[in-house]
Amino acid sequence: MNAASGAPRPPRAEGCKTGNVGSHYQSPSRKARRLPERGAVTLTAMTTTWKGSCHCGAVRFSFKSGPITRGVRCNCSICLRKGAVMSTVYFPPADFTLEGREALSVYLFGDRMVNHFFCRTCGVYPFHDATTAPGHYRVNLGCVEGVDPLALEITVIDGRSLPV
Ligand SMILES: [Zn+2]
Repeated sequence: MNAASGAPRPPRAEGCKTGNVGSHYQSPSRKARRLPERGAVTLTAMTTTWKGSCHCGAVRFSFKSGPITRGVRCNCSICLRKGAVMSTVYFPPADFTLEGREALSVYLFGDRMVNHFFCRTCGVYPFHDATTAPGHYRVNLGCVEGVDPLALEITVIDGRSLPV
């Protein structure tokens, strides 16, 4: 080990601002409006209802989205531990359904801005939302049927450097 780097830093309660819908928020409908010609029609034709679940199946969800070709990861203290590949967007309540809400527990830390949901039986983290925008979920793509999260184009969010 490199002694110059000193003792390992204890994990700080860095706020995972991936839940901050400000800069990262991009709903599918907003994306559709950016498409050049008759984008909404095109997106509707390409929209699929994706199904997901935790490992034990107590938590099941679905959401509407176009093709999933990209994912995000984050280097903040909790996302490094989870290692999940997440959706690039937050899905709004109109595009998201949830069954098994009672099976979820929630973990908050740091600035307590993000509800880190997890199944109280199997421990899997299916999605999170921001306390300022409840019900707008960023989804763990590893929970989604038909998606290989390791095959996606990954963008890393620098959540570590954001203030708590
Ligand atoms: Zn479960």
